[in-house]
Amino acid sequence: ATRDTWAAVDRYLAETLVGHDPALEAALAAQERAELRPIEVAPVAGKLLHLLVRISRARRVLEIGTLAGYSAIWMARALPEGGRLISIEAEPDNAALARRNIDAAEVGDRVQILEGRAADVLPTLDASEPFDLVFIDADKESNTVYLDWAARLAPVGAVIVVDNVVRDGRVADLGDEDAQIAGVRAGLEMLRDDPRFDATALQTVGVKGWDGLAIAVRV
Ligand code: SAM
Repeated sequence: ATRDTWAAVDRYLAETLVGHDPALEAALAAQERAELRPIEVAPVAGKLLHLLVRISRARRVLEIGTLAGYSAIWMARALPEGGRLISIEAEPDNAALARRNIDAAEVGDRVQILEGRAADVLPTLDASEPFDLVFIDADKESNTVYLDWAARLAPVGAVIVVDNVVRDGRVADLGDEDAQIAGVRAGLEMLRDDPRFDATALQTVGVKGWDGLAIAVRV
């Protein structure tokens, strides 16, 4: 199979099981108009995040890396009445665009975007209000920092998802010393070694090429 067939199957699965959603598609169109790179999760992965929020009955979700709000809209829509999603974004323009997209998707009441570098914002969060699901999708160099905060801010049983853990297979090339790849690998090793996590990871192929995500439970 080639990348084209992966992408064709991914589009088929998205057409069959995800369908079309005007607000999500408008968010992506606005992201494209703003000339942001299309580094949001694929539609099938957005729906996976949505389902994970529902399956875990999460009431409070933390996202690190908002971009234009695509994954945030997916997850916010899965929240029950009174639920809350907090998403951290370092780029002010991205945060502003995400705010508009999230309001247009009519989930603005349950989403708070915190602008700033996640390593600075995370220590300001109120630990007495824990998160049931944490989605880590920002600068990969900081994955271990974010995992540490996820463990501090999430109770036993919480779900932690880390995106982009395969990166075209580069993660398994131990000679590849790129800082992002090293960060991904350090995150996976932390998921293995830190007693606060039990984790696995899956490779994915599709419209976003070859990548993967790690899923952990807080233990
Ligand atoms: N989760 C988004 C989605 O699927 O729609 C995609 C997020 S994109 C892959 C990563 C985002 O993280 C970018 O918008 C980038 O500006 C942001 N980012 C990078 N470094 C960051 C940091 N140190 N703190 C907070 N956000 C950061």
